[in-house]
Amino acid sequence: MTDTTTGEPGEPTRHPDTSAITAGRTYDNGSLAPVLWAGTVFESATVADSRQAATNPRETRFYSRNGNPTVAAFEEAVAELEGAEAARAFASGMGAVSAAILCFCSPGDHLVAQYQLYGGTAAFLEQVCPRFGIEVTFVDGTEPGAFAAAVQPGRTTLVFAETPANPCLDIVDLDELGALAGPITIVDSTFATPLLQRPLDHGVDLVLHSATKGMAGHNDATLGVIAGAAELIDWLWGYAVLQGANASPTDALNALRGLRTLPVRLERQCATASVLAAALEAHPAVAGVRHPSLASHPGHDLAARQMRGPGSLLSFEVAAGEDAAVRCIEALRLVRIATSLGGPETLATHPVSTTHAHSTPDDRARMGISGGTVRLSVGLEHPDDLLADLRQALVAATGA
Ligand SMILES: *Cc1c(COP(=O)(O)O)cnc(C)c1O
Repeated sequence: MTDTTTGEPGEPTRHPDTSAITAGRTYDNGSLAPVLWAGTVFESATVADSRQAATNPRETRFYSRNGNPTVAAFEEAVAELEGAEAARAFASGMGAVSAAILCFCSPGDHLVAQYQLYGGTAAFLEQVCPRFGIEVTFVDGTEPGAFAAAVQPGRTTLVFAETPANPCLDIVDLDELGALAGPITIVDSTFATPLLQRPLDHGVDLVLHSATKGMAGHNDATLGVIAGAAELIDWLWGYAVLQGANASPTDALNALRGLRTLPVRLERQCATASVLAAALEAHPAVAGVRHPSLASHPGHDLAARQMRGPGSLLSFEVAAGEDAAVRCIEALRLVRIATSLGGPETLATHPVSTTHAHSTPDDRARMGISGGTVRLSVGLEHPDDLLADLRQALVAATGA
C-alpha cells in the first residue's frame, strides 16, 4: 500500500491512503463527517430547470432513484480511488452485477466469464442470462489467453472477470484483460477494494465492487458500485434508473465512513491473513492453503505485480475432509460462522454449504472447492488470538 496515485499535471501525487481520507466531500458543506441527505425529491425553480434535472445523467437534485447527494459523495470517492471519471452506486453488489449485464447485453449477444466467481454472479449468468437469450461461455480465468480465445468478434459484448476470486483467491491477469479489444471488460474487484488494485490502470473498462464488504467494512451497509469512463457510466445510469436498484443514502453514508479507515483496516487484515496463512500451511491437519501471500499460491507472482497487498481472505483445506471441516468451523470460539467479508470480526464459511451450495460437484471441483474447504474473512482481532482459536478448533475436529 505504498504506491502513489497520479495527480493532475503539476499537482503533487498523493497516496491512495490519503485519497481515502480526502475524497467524496463535495456535498458536505464543511461538515467533516459525511452528511445524510434522506430526502427523495428536490424542487426546481422553473419547468426548464426540472427538465434539465430529469434528463441530466447522474443528477443529484431531482429524484432519489436518479441520484442523491450522499450517494453521489460515495460515487465521487470511489471514482477518485479507482482513477475513474465517474461511478454509479447500486442497492447491492448484485444490483451492480445485474445492471452491468442487462445494460450491455441484448438477446443474441455473447458474454465471456470466468467460472471462478461469486455464487450470485455465477447463478445470474447460468440461470437468468439464458432466459434473455444471452449466451455465456465460462473459461478458467487463471489460464493465460483463455478470455481472448473465447471472445467472438462482433458478438461478444461483455467480458466479466473477478479477481481475487471466490473462494480460492484465484488471480486473473489484469493486463491481459485490459488488452482485449472489442467487448466491454468488467472486473469484480470486491476482494481487493480500491486500495489493493486498480483494474482501470490496466486498461479494463469498468470496475465493480460489492461495497457491502470491505469498503463499508462494518457489516452495516448493503451497497454496490461500478466505476469507469463517464460515457459508460452514463449508459449504466440510463439502465439503472429503470432497474430501480438505487443505493440507499444511509448505506452510502456508512460506506463513506468506512472508506476513511479502509487503508489502516486493510493493512492490519492483510498482515494477519498472511500470518494465519503461513501457520495453517505448516499445520499437519491442513492439506493446503490459498492466500496470495504464500509462495505456493499459483497466483502469487501475478498478485505481487498487480496488487498492493495480498488481501484479507484466505481458504484452507481440512485434510480429513468435509465432516472434519464442519467440526472445525463449529469448534471455533472467537471466529464466527457467517457469510460476507471485510468486517472487523473474523468469519468462517463452509463454501459447499453456503456460497457454492448450488454449484454442481464438477463446477466445485474445477473451482478447487471441496467439502473440506473453509473460507476465512480475516478481521481486526489480535493475530495471536485468532491463531490460538484456529489451532484449538483443528485439534477438537481432527485431534491434530
Ligand atoms: C458479496 C459479493 C457480491 C454481491 O454483493 P452483495 O452486496 O451481497 O449483493 C459480488 N461479488 C463478490 C466478489 C462478493 O463477495
